[in-house]
Amino acid sequence: MPLNRIRIVLVQPSHGGNIGGCARAMKNMGLTRLLLVAPEDFPGEEASARAAGADDVLARAQVCATLDEAIADCHLVIGASARERRIAWPMLAPDEAARRVLAAVNGQEVAVLFGRERTGLTNDELDRCQALVNIPANPEFSSLNLACAVQVLAYEIRCAAEAGVAAAPAGAAAMLGEPLATSAEIQRFYQHLDQVMVASGFLDPANPRLLTRRIRRLFNRIEMTSNEVNILRGILAAVTQPVVKTKS
Ligand code: SAH
Repeated sequence: MPLNRIRIVLVQPSHGGNIGGCARAMKNMGLTRLLLVAPEDFPGEEASARAAGADDVLARAQVCATLDEAIADCHLVIGASARERRIAWPMLAPDEAARRVLAAVNGQEVAVLFGRERTGLTNDELDRCQALVNIPANPEFSSLNLACAVQVLAYEIRCAAEAGVAAAPAGAAAMLGEPLATSAEIQRFYQHLDQVMVASGFLDPANPRLLTRRIRRLFNRIEMTSNEVNILRGILAAVTQPVVKTKS
């Protein structure tokens, strides 16, 4: 069942009750894979109480120290965001996001990220997402409770599954028949590119403006394969030798 493979990732949730509520929302919709990045209150009584009958989802929840650990092998990462951002990022409606998740989940590892109750996801975390999803809401009161946001998106994913969204619309990378790059490979590429931009004088680390985010947005849009990332890193290594020593 593809729904079992979709990761729901909660980044630093502070209330155990919300974690339990998310587990219940997920299980109601047939999702089971919960990852918790540095949760403040887990495991605990609040989480178990709010999970009601979804204790099995909680028991199998994977706790990770960092977001990168939770999504290292993911090919598609979508972030749930309540807010407009300074730099426009591809923004999906819940049903579009659900279709994209389901289309990918057959051959790829997919994660949907949710942020902290008070402050949401940081820009650094959003930079790891290929797209964001926003749940339309009252503009004067647009931030849903964490478990409610998980419920809405889990519901949309279930609807898409029941509507039979399955075969991925063959994107360019899928047609090449090559594995897509993982989040970890892409993050290493960005670090490498940042080093080269700084070493060449193109990027002033004291005044990066929005340059690094724009670069990430560009590459996050295009579904790079592992091979393509390796080629780009090979070019970076070749043009900078011996100026920059890169770590691989
Ligand atoms: N005050 C925070 C929102 C925290 S709500 C902020 O301004 O960012 C906790 C999490 O629930 C958010 O990080 C987001 O992942 C999800 N969420 C809440 N409301 C949402 C909405 N309208 N659309 C998409 N995700 C939402």
